[in-house]
Amino acid sequence: MEMDNSDNKDSSQCVRVAVNIRPLVTSELLVGCTDCISVFPAESQVQIGSHSFTFDYIFGSGGYPCSRIFDECVAPLVDSLFHGYNGTVLAYGQTGSGKTYTMGTNYHGEEHQNGVIPKVMDTIFSKVESMKESKEFLIRVSFIEIFKEDVFDLLDQNIPFVSRNDVPPVVKSTCPARVPIQIRETVSGGITLAGVREAEVNTKDEMASYLLQGSVSRATGSTNMNSQSSRSHAIFTISMEQKRITSSSAGDDVADEILTAKLHLVDLAGSERAKRTGADGTRLREGIHINKGLLALGNVISALGDDKKRKGGHVPYRDSKLTRLLQLRVEL
Ligand code: ADP
Ligand code: MG
Repeated sequence: MEMDNSDNKDSSQCVRVAVNIRPLVTSELLVGCTDCISVFPAESQVQIGSHSFTFDYIFGSGGYPCSRIFDECVAPLVDSLFHGYNGTVLAYGQTGSGKTYTMGTNYHGEEHQNGVIPKVMDTIFSKVESMKESKEFLIRVSFIEIFKEDVFDLLDQNIPFVSRNDVPPVVKSTCPARVPIQIRETVSGGITLAGVREAEVNTKDEMASYLLQGSVSRATGSTNMNSQSSRSHAIFTISMEQKRITSSSAGDDVADEILTAKLHLVDLAGSERAKRTGADGTRLREGIHINKGLLALGNVISALGDDKKRKGGHVPYRDSKLTRLLQLRVEL
């Protein structure tokens, strides 16, 4: 799913939703699971039992091949990034539905090239290379996790760096306690995270090493890695600043113009937590927190899709940390 506030697009295109239907995995086939979703590509609909759902795009299982997710849904956002527009790609679904696989969050090098994030990295650096005669770029990445309404920096330098050659990571039994970071509002109304690491990157490999470092610290931050990663939202943010290079004789006005924009790539917590909160106290509180993020996200997205609410400024970004952090200034 993607959000994009480029005002050069039709407002109905502000939020677009794609479904990616993964094939059954071995363990499912072994217990005799069979496909339960029918795809009607011409109508852009899927049917489960008697329920039909319409999407902007359908991938897998008779829809477009999954390999086209990037080209159809994400490449236009990378393009917009170079034109100074913010964008967000969100992966939503229950645990095991393929969010991490689709986003490519758990990137370990050349053999896992098909995820969204590795392709974003490839595209950004080949564009930068082709534009380097005329533009100067400053690219930074941050990688954070929201767990129970607390924000953690996955690139915190206190967490030891693990190179991509050391995969699979060794889970250390003595992890330093993680300290949550605070959300601050800037004078101009922007949102910042106090003290979050924003690492400058010059190559795709450098960017990939931060993605890997973050994925590893996301896993090691918990004693039970699967359960925690399915209960937290992970946000990989690429910020880009570009400046036109002009010869010294050219006008100064143009030379000083700096274009900045951000692309957020989000692997959300498992959506099952939004429904199944359980009776146990801890679980219940966690359910409420995750619920809060996913619920607020749903409300923000429906407000963004509603012309009146969007223009009237009634987009409820402030209802959760997730939506506050993803807040894109929609200036219309
Ligand atoms: P989630 O992050 O939503 O919990 P994962 O991305 O971990 O789910 O995917 C669950 C399992 O399904 C993994 O074993 C993954 O390799 C497999 N999988 C997910 N998407 C696909 C796909 N498009 N094709 C093949 N296998 C997939
Ligand atoms: Mg996952």
